[in-house]
Amino acid sequence: AAKGNGRGRFSFYSSDLHQAAEIRRALEDDLRDALARGEMELRYQPVVNAKSNMVTGVEALVRWTHPDRGVISPGVFIPIAEEANLIWPLGEWVLRKACEDAVNWPGETRVAVNVSPIQFANEDLPKIVASALATTGLAPDRLELEITESVFLGDSADTAKMFKALNALGVRLALDDFGTGYSSLSYLQTAPFDKIKIDQSFVRDATVPGSRNGAIIAAIVALAEALEMETTAEGIESLDQLELIRKLNVSHVQGYVYSKPVRHTELLEHAEAGSWIIKPAGPARQRND
Ligand code: C2E
Ligand code: MG
Ligand code: MG
Ligand code: MG
Repeated sequence: AAKGNGRGRFSFYSSDLHQAAEIRRALEDDLRDALARGEMELRYQPVVNAKSNMVTGVEALVRWTHPDRGVISPGVFIPIAEEANLIWPLGEWVLRKACEDAVNWPGETRVAVNVSPIQFANEDLPKIVASALATTGLAPDRLELEITESVFLGDSADTAKMFKALNALGVRLALDDFGTGYSSLSYLQTAPFDKIKIDQSFVRDATVPGSRNGAIIAAIVALAEALEMETTAEGIESLDQLELIRKLNVSHVQGYVYSKPVRHTELLEHAEAGSWIIKPAGPARQRND
């Protein structure tokens, strides 16, 4: 019986894999027309100063509404876009749209845009960024590009050149999902980051008794402060997590406790009269983004 079960399970998995591959191929096809069909949209999530509750920035997060399958998360379609060579037009669209919208935000509010390692490895990236800034009129220091440690796995001379070119444009750079990749820390010697984003995996259990995550977050904050970088804790859902994050001196917070990612029109409703302060509310509201 054990043998039979084993075989049954194997065929279950292989047909599962087959189905997954087919869905992936279908999505890749649909992704080719998604931009032209207006199926891509941006959601915006406030990044808040942990002490003052002031919104200092907003991260742009792309959403795809598929005609049959409904909303598909970027965790699913960005990897497909990267492999199918579609990340470039998508990334350019995100950049332009985010800059265009950010011009309307109060004061110095920044917009953060995620940049795929594939985009980062393309020497045309600085040109595309410069053009997005020029056509929208957004000041360079109001644009923050979020990149992950994986860019340091590529050619180091090319990587250094890209940092230099982006720096010359005057845009800000944030290191996203810090601590989750396989990179060494040596890149921090030279890479010009303005901010480290502490991955939500460190935040998730930090308030659970016996968790080591508080100690890890404290160490990241010490590192960032010594290197004169800001910190943002991602994925803060509860008031308990917010309290701990504040105690650990993380400078900025992003998470459902303040706001889920929202449409641009909804974002503008928060922004009134030059002061842009939102109050935290817990626990874990508005999960369905
Ligand atoms: P990320 O850049 O690390 O973005 C943070 C993710 O955490 C977002 O997921 C956001 O919706 C989610 N999040 C925010 N607050 C909370 C919270 O309190 N609890 C929980 N559980 N989650 C929270 P999202 O929007 O699904 O995006 C996933 C990833 O997809 C992003 O991770 C980013 O790596 C990528 N991505 C999103 N938009 C773009 C884009 O325009 N270009 C590229 N290249 N990648 C993108
Ligand atoms: Mg990000
Ligand atoms: Mg992140
Ligand atoms: Mg991520």
